[in-house]
Amino acid sequence: MSTNEREVRVRFAPSPTGPLHIGGVRTALYNYLFARQHGGKMILRIEDTDSQRFVPGAEDYINEALAWLGIGIDEGVREGGPYGPYKQSERRDIYREHVKMLLDAGKAYIAFDTPAELEAKRAEVPNFQYDASTRGSMRNSLSLPKEEVDRLLAEGAQYVVRFRIEPGRDVAVDDLIRGRVTIKSDILDDKVLYKSADDLPTYHLANIVDDHLMKVSHVIRGEEWLPSAPLHVLLYEAFGWADTAPAFVHLPLLLKPDGKGKLSKRDGDRLGFPVFPLEWHDPKSGETSSGYRESGYLPHAVVNFLALLGWNPGDDTEVMTMDELIAKFSLDHCSKSGAKFAFEKGKWFNHTYLQELPDSELAELFKPVLEAHGVNPADFTDEYITRAVAMVKSRINFVSDLWEHARFFFTAPTEYDPKAVKKRWSADMPAIMTALADLLEGEDDFSCAALEPKVLGWIEEHGYHLGNVMNAFRLTVVGECKGPHMFDITELMGRDETVRRIRAGVANIKPAE
Ligand code: GLU
Repeated sequence: MSTNEREVRVRFAPSPTGPLHIGGVRTALYNYLFARQHGGKMILRIEDTDSQRFVPGAEDYINEALAWLGIGIDEGVREGGPYGPYKQSERRDIYREHVKMLLDAGKAYIAFDTPAELEAKRAEVPNFQYDASTRGSMRNSLSLPKEEVDRLLAEGAQYVVRFRIEPGRDVAVDDLIRGRVTIKSDILDDKVLYKSADDLPTYHLANIVDDHLMKVSHVIRGEEWLPSAPLHVLLYEAFGWADTAPAFVHLPLLLKPDGKGKLSKRDGDRLGFPVFPLEWHDPKSGETSSGYRESGYLPHAVVNFLALLGWNPGDDTEVMTMDELIAKFSLDHCSKSGAKFAFEKGKWFNHTYLQELPDSELAELFKPVLEAHGVNPADFTDEYITRAVAMVKSRINFVSDLWEHARFFFTAPTEYDPKAVKKRWSADMPAIMTALADLLEGEDDFSCAALEPKVLGWIEEHGYHLGNVMNAFRLTVVGECKGPHMFDITELMGRDETVRRIRAGVANIKPAE
């Protein structure tokens, strides 16, 4: 069914088993872009049916991460919506009812095999699979007499409900990126759909029932779910929902930046980039994993970077606003093959977006960094911080880099780069710098336009070496021989601070031998 005929409704369906991985964020983003482009709805469904793997805090983390990135949700646990609840653990009645529908229709059956019995079977039969060829030799409602089944149920024996998959069928999965993939039903096992022990369905049943009831039109998810798709096709059929089954879209894997294989947390640790959107504190291990937010990334830089990992706009445009991404996104330009996680590109996006921020906003972002380094931002005017930031921003990839490049605007140097001292602080320099300080002390106009010709003229008049004097001057003010244009610095710092620093340099810099 084409998108023209049906309201686009997509869902992001994470399991709250830990922090949302960056690959999950990309899945959420593509769902969001697709929904917005088609004027459809974006659902956030929490798939928490695996009580063993539930991690406290994970659901809040998911909400916070999506909100930070600007991935809006139309229907969900917090947002509400017409097809709730949107948390699977609150939908037990619905699943129970649907399990019964399959049982009544003979499409599923009850199995009493204990974990120990299954284990023994697996040990006895190599590559054992619970399916049409083996289910007759197992303890289930197809192999046992009805009285026995009733007796076991009446006794409260634990059981699971299994999907009855018939062999000899070709199962076709139509994927909007990959085309048609056909498999033989014989390779599928009779998947467990429900467990009486915790009165909860498994992922497969809950996922299919919810996609149907929530009127999902497109299932856009990671490639790792492709192997489940044939089973899902058969489940839609078993329920009689094949006509309204959603279209499948399996997104390519995110791969290691170097070498082969799937991107893992270890790659991030090894190469020094986060694999999670936000910092995560693992409640069990106490371990902290770094996040893009805390590492100084702007949310839209992360969004833009992720958007291009598996999709391209059809030309070489790279920098796109959210609205542009929404307008340009297309499944036709999603790739089948995995996307290398080129994290250096992520830094480049961050650099690019930082340049686009108004200087005053960058200054605000810099204030906490100043504080962290023991500088009270209130000691400076907003204009001062803004102008300092503007002078160095072209050199930064992260807000935190501002400290390295702009620190001297906020604290006078206490140390001087030894290499620069060796090269520039000749024996005659203290006297020349003292004369420069005397000269500057008498200047009222510290604007770059006024001061630059004045100082350059003075240097020439005395026959000094321009490079040596200017570098020594810079050394006293900055502490090293790099940074923005010297007279832009002095314009901002003003006369008193400049003169103070030159005199401090004269007092403190020990001339090289
Ligand atoms: N709960 C699954 C997950 O954690 C959802 C997979 C799907 O989208 O069908 O990714």
